[in-house]
This record gives sequence, C-alpha cells and structure tokens, in this order.
Amino acid sequence: MSADSTSTVSTLAADAAPRHDWTLDEIEALFALPFNDLLFKAQCVHRQHFDANAVQVSTLLSIKTGACPEDCKYCPQSGHYNTGLDKEKLLEIEKVVEQAKSALDAGASRFCMGAAWRSPRQRDLEVVIEMVKRVKALGLETCMTLGMVDEAQAHQLADAGLDYYNHNLDTSPEYYGEIITTRSYADRLDTLGNVRQAGMKICSGGILGMGETARDRAGLLRQLANLSPHPESVPINMLVKVPGTPLEDVEDLDPIEYLRAIAVARIMMPKSHVRLSAGREQMDESTQALAFMAGANSIFYGDTLLTTGNPQVERDRALFDKLGLHPERRDTCASDDEREQVLARQIERQAREASSAQFYDAAV
Ligand code: SF4
Repeated sequence: MSADSTSTVSTLAADAAPRHDWTLDEIEALFALPFNDLLFKAQCVHRQHFDANAVQVSTLLSIKTGACPEDCKYCPQSGHYNTGLDKEKLLEIEKVVEQAKSALDAGASRFCMGAAWRSPRQRDLEVVIEMVKRVKALGLETCMTLGMVDEAQAHQLADAGLDYYNHNLDTSPEYYGEIITTRSYADRLDTLGNVRQAGMKICSGGILGMGETARDRAGLLRQLANLSPHPESVPINMLVKVPGTPLEDVEDLDPIEYLRAIAVARIMMPKSHVRLSAGREQMDESTQALAFMAGANSIFYGDTLLTTGNPQVERDRALFDKLGLHPERRDTCASDDEREQVLARQIERQAREASSAQFYDAAV
C-alpha cells in the first residue's frame, strides 16, 4: 500500500468513532462526495466493525394485519386507504412458532413480528409476550413492532426477553407531516426512548422515495445518528408503491440516491447493522451488490418467503453465492457485554420496583 493510501485509511479509521452531533451541512457534504469516494469511505468504515462478507438475515411475520388506525401514506395496512388487503386478527401463538421454526430452517437469525396497531392493548400484549418467549426458546433473536409503547409496556416486553423493538422515524421531522398526521415525530421519539430505557435494542430507520428532498434524507439520517446510542439496526427502505395508497404515483427515486443514503448511514452509524429492507425485491442484483459494498449488512426475508423452495429465498441464496456473502452467525449479533448490561438493568429495575412497592405498603 502506498504512503498516500495508508494515510487515507488511517484518516478514515479516525473518522469511524460513533458520533451523535452531526450537522445537516456535514451530512450533505457526505452525500455530495463523488460516488466512488463515498463508497470507498463507507467500505473502509464497514470493515473496521464487521466481517465485510457477512449479512445478517431477519425474517418478518405479520402477526396482525390491516385495519390500522394510523394514516401512514405509504402503508397498505392503514384503515384509511382501500388497498384490497386481507385483514387478519392476531395470529395464534402456535402458528407464529411454526413460522419461526421455518425461518430458523431457512437461515434466519432474527425473527421479527409486526402488528398493525396504534399501540398494543394489555390483553394483546400478554399474547405477544408469550410469542416472544416461545420464539426465543427456539434460539432466535426476537424483534417486535407493535406501534407506540409507553414505559410500562416497554418494560413488560423487555422482561419477556424481547431483544429488539422496531419503530421507524420514516423521514425527516420537516417532511413527516406530509406522510403521517395521526401521530407526531415526538411520539415516535418517545417510544424509542421508552424502548431504550427498558434495556432493549432499537431497530429504527426510514423510507426513501416518498417524494422527499435530498435534504430530508439527510435530515432522517441525522435524527437516527444523533440518537445516543445509535439504533443497533437501521432499516433503509425504498418505497414500495402500493395501489390505493396516496403515494402510489410518486416519482421513483434514482437507485444511485438510495445507494448514497446506505453509504452515508454506514459512515454515520459505523457499528449499526444497516438493513436493505422493503423494496429490495424490486432492486436488480447490481443495485443490491452495490448496497452491500456501500455497507448494508442485513436483509429481510418477508413473511411469505419462509420456505426453502420459495423463489425469493433461492434468488437470495444464489446472489449470496455469486457475491461470496454468507449469513452472519447469531452470536455476532450481540456481545456478551451487551447481554450482561441488559440483565443488570433488569435486575436494577426489579429491585427499584420492589423497594417502591414496600414504600407504598408502609404508607397505607
Ligand atoms: S402504524 Fe404501521 S401498520 Fe399502521 S399504517 Fe402506519 S406503517 Fe402501517
């Protein structure tokens, strides 16, 4: 390696420490780099923290579909739009466990369960808690997305052993009102705060291609990267335009802009898993390959994609083979330290609750 390239790499190494004080100007300057320089920088950061050829694989199952009271303009599950989607009640626990077993067999290390709720009711929460326990017992990491959760709900989920809670910020604070009116950006940040405080890991990202500006994309990444600590998992979705939703005719985002966002996310959140999420099925192999090169290291198999005979799973495996990628082993997803910290927080909280219960009894 020449002296010049050695110094470039060491400068990049120095850049790679996680930061939480990004300004929009700095982020826009990253977006504006020549594409090759941006990808090189992202790739250098990626290699400092991850096996560059390992990709974490998650599977998503919808455990309650449709009739959501929220009005997210991209979402076919919103009760505000007629998209012809079949609505389903909360799935039975045994069905969820069956699907989780298939996901495990298909190579997934994390099982994500999503319910189209504004926030869970207590009686539903009790059922999903049982789901978490049963899925975890299979040896899978667990993730749930159930809408907004308050502090008590977050603690209940954490105590059940839930590893990740997904709650996306979707877009920049400035553009947010164009996409959702039934809950605010602050509501979303509150839920993320409750999840973090309960000791769970955060999965939070957004959707690109909803008609937002380049500055909005920078604004979304700024919000995510200025969370401290960073979300452990950052899904960067490309809008899937569903007929019947208000965004069905929005202009396509140039794939190069999408790839730039992946690379900038990787640089800004160097230790997070950056996920190619919704919209991946519509991307060609070259775009996906470039996304992995830009630092994406996580993918989703959807809920209809669980069996090994499924064409999408087979296509993904063929692409992994072509690119020399392999699924990330589960034990690389969370360090022992992280697990111990979660345990310590749970013990501390239980002790706090026990002492406040005693205080209450004494006062009565
Ligand atoms: S809250 Fe979730 S399920 Fe409900 S409309 Fe928004 S994105 Fe869809």
